[in-house]
Amino acid sequence: MGVVRGVSPDERAATADRLSRTLDRLSRSRESLQNNRVLVAASDYRLATSRRLLNPTGPGAVPSRDDQLRVLARGRLASGVLFAPRVAMWAGFGSGLPCAVCEEAVGPLDAEYVLRAWNATQLVAHFHCYVAWRAELDALHGVGSPSAPASAPHPSPDRED
Ligand SMILES: [Zn+2]
Repeated sequence: MGVVRGVSPDERAATADRLSRTLDRLSRSRESLQNNRVLVAASDYRLATSRRLLNPTGPGAVPSRDDQLRVLARGRLASGVLFAPRVAMWAGFGSGLPCAVCEEAVGPLDAEYVLRAWNATQLVAHFHCYVAWRAELDALHGVGSPSAPASAPHPSPDRED
């Protein structure tokens, strides 16, 4: 008999069937892989958001606008552009002058703070920028925050209370 060592039609059909089921599974896994990627991306986003909420200054934190303003204000105080304003100060609508903190014009729809130094130098700032400026001044003088670092840049001599 011319028996062949080849594959019988039954075996061939079975193999084709297995192959087709394998391909089918493969395409389904590809699909779920795609779905998983989407889910992972969504989870990553949620994780990053939660992490920022839990630890706003930790690694991966995106500085908020207020933080950025604080950094700007800190640098400008250090370089002497900003000063500790005299009490005299008023607020109104923006004059269009550049803000002393962020350098953007204080537009007519913005609240503008006008601040005068003892030497009559006058600066304008957006409300939010002034808040950051003020906060940096307070931090510099160790006012306000009870958790202010002990290594403040200026160990104020007037803290004998
Ligand atoms: Zn500003």
